[in-house]
Amino acid sequence: MANAAPGSGDLPSAELWASHNRMVMEPLESNDPEVFGIIKKEKQRQRLELELIASENFASRAVLEALGSCMNNKYSEGYPGQRYYGGTEFVDELERLCQKRALQAYGLDPHKWGVNVQPYSGTGARTALVEPHGRIMGLDLPDGGHLTHGFMTEKKKISATSVFFESMPYKVNPTTGYIDYDRLEENARLFHPKLIIAGFSCYSRNLDYTRMRRIADANGALLMADMAHISGLVAAGVAPSPFEHCDVVTTTTHKTLRGCRAGMIFYRKGTRSVDPKTGKETLYNLESLINQAVFPGLQGGPHNHAIAGFAVALRQAMTPEFKAYQQQVVANCQALSAALVELGYNIVTGGSDNHLILLDLRNKGTDGGRAERVLELCSIACNKNTCPGDISALRPSGLRFGTPALTSRGFRQDDFRRVAAFIHRGEAGAGARPVRGIELTLRVQSDMSPKATLREFKEKLQEEGYQADLAALKEEVEAFAGTFPLPGLPVL
Ligand SMILES: *Cc1c(COP(=O)(O)O)cnc(C)c1O
Repeated sequence: MANAAPGSGDLPSAELWASHNRMVMEPLESNDPEVFGIIKKEKQRQRLELELIASENFASRAVLEALGSCMNNKYSEGYPGQRYYGGTEFVDELERLCQKRALQAYGLDPHKWGVNVQPYSGTGARTALVEPHGRIMGLDLPDGGHLTHGFMTEKKKISATSVFFESMPYKVNPTTGYIDYDRLEENARLFHPKLIIAGFSCYSRNLDYTRMRRIADANGALLMADMAHISGLVAAGVAPSPFEHCDVVTTTTHKTLRGCRAGMIFYRKGTRSVDPKTGKETLYNLESLINQAVFPGLQGGPHNHAIAGFAVALRQAMTPEFKAYQQQVVANCQALSAALVELGYNIVTGGSDNHLILLDLRNKGTDGGRAERVLELCSIACNKNTCPGDISALRPSGLRFGTPALTSRGFRQDDFRRVAAFIHRGEAGAGARPVRGIELTLRVQSDMSPKATLREFKEKLQEEGYQADLAALKEEVEAFAGTFPLPGLPVL
């Protein structure tokens, strides 16, 4: 080091040290314009796009403030009162407050339920409940289940949950789109699962927890709900609560619950059953199993800033404003569904009880991959999804739409009717020629060989004629979306 004093080894100069001390105090904008610039671009994308991805939401300003706080700095392996580090007085207070709010938000008696708020996401609980190679049953991924409910294909075990466990999926009826509980019952009788998972990423109907409880009991299985998608609806009382019927309930905190990205695991405590003959009680042993599986089993130190973030979301979830929000989410979803049906689209199961719908494009002669791409180019964000009865997961024939994110921006039913029109074909302004969403997908396809691949389709979209239509619809979509406020921090 050229400017280090002789004999000082690698010690920094006074100047460099002063500069370091300025660096750690500098705002992001001037300290790292490159990252700042990317975040600004992302914020602009979120502001101008119609965000219809069912698992996404816009966290409130207060949630993001807590998430971006000094709670990030603290190590606290262990649980409140039993940590491996000092200085944990306030993170203990925070974690206990978060636990208390979590139980309150779902109306749970702290003598009967406990909750672990440390999971980095919602997917860890399985290993606590079932030994390696133990048997689990979850809704199949192509039928609306989640990857982590034991997903595998004929060729390959995809999710770690299908590597650790033996999994047998249950499915929806390919004609009605509703879960086939009769077959689940039959198969459970043959398969003898240790754990049945009630939960989904793409299913627009309420689950029959009562029926699933009966099936679990008949087979001595635990029943676990993974309410990741609907935890906000459940907290607001606009979707049936799984707690009455389940032994364990897991959730993420960043979907309809509108917190930051994290997870929670609720478990029953106290008496599991009483022998009618002897009066002998069997107790639940879930608390220590689950706590140990989370830490030290699967994770290290808790993300205290995330716990702070969703503790704020949980407080908001107990307000009348949040209930109003969730009621609006469901009303908006029904308005979107009805508007699309009116435009001639098929919705799987004919509609929705919750925050999402699955649009089946098979009667239109196109598929999810192509339509997703066209809508993306017009600033409408959604995702392709398999529909019940799809033969190949490689060519999913549907699109999943959810209303939580745009409802957080203040959208109501009329706004979603506008959204449906954008999805189908943009309402052309005075004098403008009609521009098209899914209709454009069909037109591009009709200009190509029916055998064209998705890649060829995407290349075709680059042609000038289509680019003009796409740009016109994009402009209209962005002009519309840009008029709505975006929750979050003032700048980033
Ligand atoms: C989103 C989701 C999860 C967890 O997802 P992460 O990406 O790990 O946060 C788990 N289960 C279901 C059903 C989900 O929809």
